[in-house]
Amino acid sequence: MKIAVLADIHSNLEALEAVLADAGGIKEIWCLGDIVGYGPNPNECCAIIKKKAKYCLAGNHDWGVVGKMRIDWFNSQAAAALKNNEKILNGENKAYLNSLPLKEKIGKILLVHASPRLPLTEYLFEDWRVQRAFESFSEKICFVGHTHLPAVFQKGERRIINPGSVGQPRDGDWRASYGVFDDKNLTFELRRVKYPIEKTQAKMVKLKISPFLIKRLALGK
Ligand code: ZN
Repeated sequence: MKIAVLADIHSNLEALEAVLADAGGIKEIWCLGDIVGYGPNPNECCAIIKKKAKYCLAGNHDWGVVGKMRIDWFNSQAAAALKNNEKILNGENKAYLNSLPLKEKIGKILLVHASPRLPLTEYLFEDWRVQRAFESFSEKICFVGHTHLPAVFQKGERRIINPGSVGQPRDGDWRASYGVFDDKNLTFELRRVKYPIEKTQAKMVKLKISPFLIKRLALGK
């Protein structure tokens, strides 16, 4: 069966809608967390993921916005955008974010937001962190998000896979990133999708979200 794997949506409704349209007939959706933060549409993104995703993990922004993680852990722009999202979010969506788990095991697959060792906070940039991550789970494949960089790390038969970020890619390509996983053949396909970025940016301007965050969307950084 094919599964669309999404991460780091960050309140970017246009990117999320473009990804879901591209995923078309794929019935099952897994979300690796960070539905909110940075962007202008936290309620819409929460409602869509709540309705459509079979599994969704907690991300640091999801916990930050409901007060389960200290806001001073975030840099100043991220914190300001989080406070902005916090004001907009309705109670039902806050309750949903509050309920998201840190880990999800689905047979030989593990889902986390950041890393299996530190599921909310660790960035898998350095090689030693990736090696430690492999020691911290026993499943065959672990899906992670958090760095906003698409990646596949391999150790023997096992893999750590990052589908990149739907709502704020940082690999120099502004297009929304997600993956299609086949849980029978254990194959993974990375997909990039264009979306009306000006529309998202205009909403961010209206909400007085930091110009840095508005610009970085177009740079993919
Ligand atoms: Zn993120």
